Amino acid sequence: MKNIVIMSFCLCILGCKKTNDKLDFETTSDFYEKLVETNDIAELNQFFTNMPKGGDIHHHYTGSIYAETYLDWVGDKNWRIDSCSLKIIKDVSETQGCTLLTADEVIKNTALYRQLLELWSDLDFANHDHSEPPPDLQFFNTFGYFGAVSDEYMNIGLNILKERAINENVSYIETMLSAVGVSSSDYFPQDNDFNTLLELVKTQEDVDEILKEIDKVYLNNTAFENEIDTFVDKIVKDHEGIDTDNFTMRFQSYGVRVLEPLQVYTDLLSAYIANTKTPLLVGVNIVAPENNYVALKNYTLHMQMYNYLKRQYPDVNRALHAGELTIGMVRPKNLLFHINQALDIAGAQRIGHGVDLPYENESYKLLSKLKNQAAIEINLTSNKFILGVEGREHPYLIYSNYGVPLVISTDDSGVSRNNLSNEYMLLATNYKPSYETIKEYVYNSIDYSFMDEKDKEKSIKVLNEQFEEFERKITTVLNK
Ligand SMILES: [Zn+2]
Repeated sequence: MKNIVIMSFCLCILGCKKTNDKLDFETTSDFYEKLVETNDIAELNQFFTNMPKGGDIHHHYTGSIYAETYLDWVGDKNWRIDSCSLKIIKDVSETQGCTLLTADEVIKNTALYRQLLELWSDLDFANHDHSEPPPDLQFFNTFGYFGAVSDEYMNIGLNILKERAINENVSYIETMLSAVGVSSSDYFPQDNDFNTLLELVKTQEDVDEILKEIDKVYLNNTAFENEIDTFVDKIVKDHEGIDTDNFTMRFQSYGVRVLEPLQVYTDLLSAYIANTKTPLLVGVNIVAPENNYVALKNYTLHMQMYNYLKRQYPDVNRALHAGELTIGMVRPKNLLFHINQALDIAGAQRIGHGVDLPYENESYKLLSKLKNQAAIEINLTSNKFILGVEGREHPYLIYSNYGVPLVISTDDSGVSRNNLSNEYMLLATNYKPSYETIKEYVYNSIDYSFMDEKDKEKSIKVLNEQFEEFERKITTVLNK
């Protein structure tokens, strides 16, 4: 009898808690819908800053650090800034007649400091008239300015990203960190035939044959192995102290698609092998402007490289930038197949951007394949700036209407000067998804992340608790 009383008491507590949670969810959902209806951007920003957002699983490490931080690092290194070009000068003897300034001297010169921030990021690009390069060039040029210092202080940089994430209730970061850094010219003579051969072949079988020949030089080569080990050791060291009970960080390595085929394969192969050496590396990507001449010319070849590597290293995850293109940016023929091939040939589990979907071959069929095989990483700020695609021109609604799994991400929050909360605000104001759908995207960012099952379980638990707390907080605030 006593047991039954205790049991029913416990059930009541659990039942009551469930009812309260449901009420909190409904109150939060109603509140969110009211904010969307009234287009209250400031309050939506506040709402999304407080809302747990799970993971940011598409962003680039170097593009996520702010220009101000990079300039601080130039100061720490005691390097100089060329007052004419505003580029980093490591060696003072490199000067070509222009004054070299310390980081402090730049900061004290308000006009020059502002000018530097405008070149090293997208700051003020669109809010006044000035002579300006095309937006995609502005964006990608920034990397040429801060590139010299971006790999210094990586542990500090990762901690900056962690702190920023925690401050806006993001509990998982999957960052595209860097290429492994192996140079094909250290292993192959300058006049090797591989670049020409790779660009000539068409079939997967022929590509496989050539890649096998390249593998003979790299695999079982101690110097190659050592370079990968050094890269992995640095990642392990830079990651020390990052993970906690409530926060997890993992990395992707990548190939750079604008380089010669042998170097692209070298980057991809070394990235795949590095992935097998540490659980901190969880995937391989391919980066750099997709509309670049070489990137367009060799697109299928790159997918075939992924296809080959997938068979050699089946456990390594694949996320690919694909379809970061739009009409007018490239010839129409280049809009037909990038997402298709990333899925069918490379076996992508996640597609970065996927903006050219409306122009792709068999796009309806492609949508049904995507629904079952891959998630799309949506980057609204980046697409608006680099591609000029926003609002109803963006295929977000097609993806969501067809039930393709979606995640929301920042891409390059340092260059674009955005954050994940802001991306959710843009999503809400542009497309008005329900609160339930917003939550689905947040959970997708963990479900479709590449962290291992144990870490996923931990992150889902954290997320459940955070949502409970968030919805309770909204309810309490509204009831005051
Ligand atoms: Zn990206």
